[in-house]
Amino acid sequence: MTPRVTVIGAGAVGVCSALWLQRAGATVTLIDRLGPGEGCSFGNAGSLSATAILPVAMPGVLKRVPSYLRDPLGPLTIRWAYLPRLLPWLLRFIEAGRRDRVERIAAALRSLLAPIFESYGPLAEAAGCAQLIRRDGCLYLFESQTALAAARWGMELRRRNGCVLEELPAEEIARLEPAIAPRFRHGLFAPDNGSTSDPHGLVTALARSFEAAGGNLIRAEVRAIRRDEAGARELLTDRGAFAIDRLVIAAGAWSRRLANMLGDDPPLETQRGYHVTLPDPGIGVNRNIMAVSLNIMVNPMLMGLRLAGTVELAGLDAPPNYARADAILAQGRKLFPDLRDSGRTQWMGHRPCLPDSLPVIDRAGGAANVVYAFGHGHVGMCAAPMTGRIVRDLVLGRRPEIDISPFALARF
Ligand SMILES: Cc1cc2nc3c(=O)[nH]c(=O)nc-3n(C[C@H](O)[C@H](O)[C@H](O)COP(=O)(O)OP(=O)(O)OC[C@H]3O[C@@H](n4cnc5c(N)ncnc54)[C@H](O)[C@@H]3O)c2cc1C
Repeated sequence: MTPRVTVIGAGAVGVCSALWLQRAGATVTLIDRLGPGEGCSFGNAGSLSATAILPVAMPGVLKRVPSYLRDPLGPLTIRWAYLPRLLPWLLRFIEAGRRDRVERIAAALRSLLAPIFESYGPLAEAAGCAQLIRRDGCLYLFESQTALAAARWGMELRRRNGCVLEELPAEEIARLEPAIAPRFRHGLFAPDNGSTSDPHGLVTALARSFEAAGGNLIRAEVRAIRRDEAGARELLTDRGAFAIDRLVIAAGAWSRRLANMLGDDPPLETQRGYHVTLPDPGIGVNRNIMAVSLNIMVNPMLMGLRLAGTVELAGLDAPPNYARADAILAQGRKLFPDLRDSGRTQWMGHRPCLPDSLPVIDRAGGAANVVYAFGHGHVGMCAAPMTGRIVRDLVLGRRPEIDISPFALARF
């Protein structure tokens, strides 16, 4: 019998999961209260980096917590009002920054990210959007030898996990990216990385191909999940009730609310991030750049030059603080002295984050017919297509292609 699967969430993770399931012969329904890719997948930096394997909490994180609380415009900030609710998550986050934990987290992330291009490839080819995926490397930039030295341990950890990182002299940085201010003299080049020129366009094109191949895309908000002893049975939405056979929860930062309905409580938080997109930046940028000392990611996109980054721990419901987007722009001016900002747009998105920077990709604890795929944090665009392959295998009762024990729900 053809498996019938419902996926909640049409972000990068949900759409890739739906497509891999569809390709394996399942009849798939994808439900989202918004259009495809309008959640966190909308405005991210679009980096597709197989080297993005370092967790947010790195060794020494505890020492930095006071600064997180002091500076509302800093690269990582915690809103005071949210601190009491955040505390249990924060303690786990600090614990995850231990050196031995970071080693294990990096290896697990590498297994998910290394197959980025081979996992997007068939989906993007079939959707006719392969041109939105570029494989032209990523440049990591540092202002000083001291900043580069501080990143050395993480760099070696990446290399031990198979990431290629080439050190670049100042002249080579200037040749690759002439618009960069000369004081960024130290660089690392990751030739195997790439980016998308339009994250929202990529997810939308993939969703369109899902529909073209017979997939059912429904715009509805899931408000409750009815279950019995055998598992989840029905979704109650603002558009009526939908019977379910097998269910995938890929609802990004909002997944905890849905998991709670099944009796599970993963410690999922939102790390809110911001972007500024400049339709007429007045400079040429050739590829994805991570300015490490400035904590911003820059990517030339179809709609303009996007500068993105920062982490704000303030929950799902607090209004955005767009002064943080202005702060990103101010950092951008340090990197590119000739930057123009006319017509700029701003955005805030909710990264779905577990304290150890690893997602949950696993069967639900509270319902046998439900698979979870959420919590991809800073690397959801990178990890989405491989996650989709794992989801396909879990739903269809196959053995996943990689070890998924690091992504188990039971680790919390
Ligand atoms: C500033 C910034 C920069 C980033 N840069 C990068 C980058 O360069 N590379 C990278 O890989 N990642 C990056 N990320 C992270 C990446 O964007 C996320 O990890 C990824 O988009 C998460 O995808 P998702 O499908 O899990 O969630 P989402 O895209 O948020 O999708 C979840 C969907 O679920 C839907 N939903 C939720 N609840 C319900 C409900 N009850 N009923 C119906 N629908 C529901 C939402 O409407 C949403 O569409 C960045 C994030 C930010 C904020």
